[in-house]
Amino acid sequence: MTDSTAAALPAASTAASNGRFGPYGGRYVPETLVHPLAELTEAYEQAQRDPGFQQELDRLLHHFAGRPTPLFHARRLSHHLVPSGRARVYLKREDLLHTGAHKINNCLGQALLARRMGKRRIIAETGAGQHGVATATVAALFNFECVVYMGADDMARQALNVARMRLLGTEVRAVDSGSRTLKDAISEAMRDWVARCDDTHYLLGSVLGAHPYPAMVRDFHACIGREARQQFLEAEGRLPDVLFACVGGGSNAIGLFHPFLDDAGVAMIGVEAGGRGNKLGEHAARFLPNGGGRPGVLQGTYSYLLQDDAGQIAATHSISAGLDYPSIGPEHALLHDVGRATYTSASDTEALAACQLLARIEGIIPALESAHAVAGACARVPTLAGSDGKSELGVIINISGRGDKDMDILTRTLGLNA
Ligand SMILES: *Cc1c(COP(=O)(O)O)cnc(C)c1O
Repeated sequence: MTDSTAAALPAASTAASNGRFGPYGGRYVPETLVHPLAELTEAYEQAQRDPGFQQELDRLLHHFAGRPTPLFHARRLSHHLVPSGRARVYLKREDLLHTGAHKINNCLGQALLARRMGKRRIIAETGAGQHGVATATVAALFNFECVVYMGADDMARQALNVARMRLLGTEVRAVDSGSRTLKDAISEAMRDWVARCDDTHYLLGSVLGAHPYPAMVRDFHACIGREARQQFLEAEGRLPDVLFACVGGGSNAIGLFHPFLDDAGVAMIGVEAGGRGNKLGEHAARFLPNGGGRPGVLQGTYSYLLQDDAGQIAATHSISAGLDYPSIGPEHALLHDVGRATYTSASDTEALAACQLLARIEGIIPALESAHAVAGACARVPTLAGSDGKSELGVIINISGRGDKDMDILTRTLGLNA
């Protein structure tokens, strides 16, 4: 690590014990949530010092969820992107985990914490239903009562995930207020928590919300980057040059990036949802140079936010529900501002094309979220591989989840039943 990097990243490289990542993060909550958040922070800090906690988490990650996930050398994709052979592209296979995405890493960690705190009831919010399904899964495993809040419109769009949650024994509560989508479900879950924090743990699904969630959820996903770093070293005898991950709230991306932050030679590229255009309302690209977000507070944390001139939260659009959120984890805001990570976006069309490409060329159907990371790599790798004297460009793309859940939309947009 160079000295200047060290100076620029004090908060990002530590546990952010005050909940701040530079100016971002913090704890912007009503008085009633100060105590449960302090209790959670204390429990998490204790758990980190307890080797028994990490052992139990490792056991579940291995035997229940399927870690470590493979790091797969995608030879045909490498050759397709750089025909000269000067790129070695690897896929981190989070799509192979139980429930089909990285989300189970965080859910297992928080379920263990909830049990440690003596909570018997779990609540969560969900948009597309993926986090709801992962939460319902750990609730069944730990014998917790579980309630998942979901926008009424999302429930209609994601009927299969609603049925999965119910089969797992979870109560799914429809949220009819506001835009009847994710951010309304989050507000409703917060209200529930305020009323029942004595016996209830709020299992938040990304690196969002008030401290300690952004740091804690990151730590539960950092296994992605720790494994990938080790696996790449074993395969190639050196570190990769560049990492790609899609960024919704930012949990799979920070999970991959974080263990590489001190490796100054490793570039990191987060890929946001470019949707169908650059106008506010048509995308979820918080870091878009013109038409992106400005810092503000949403749902407990200070970060980049898509908002109109009056400060009202903007509508967002993405073909992939998991990336369709107006704010982004505060640690990404810091990494963006100091230039340690760079952020780009892929449009709906580019993500669809990347999904098709990966399916045909490697036999892997990625989630549409993950397809954004593949699209970002398709756009950058050919130029990066030609840009310096290095013999080969080493690349890792995080495949955060599998595409089964997206088959409806893929069938319709690609005309697969014609
Ligand atoms: C939820 C989800 C995402 C987006 O969430 P992050 O917190 O940004 O990782 C990405 N990929 C998949 C497969 C998801 O289910």
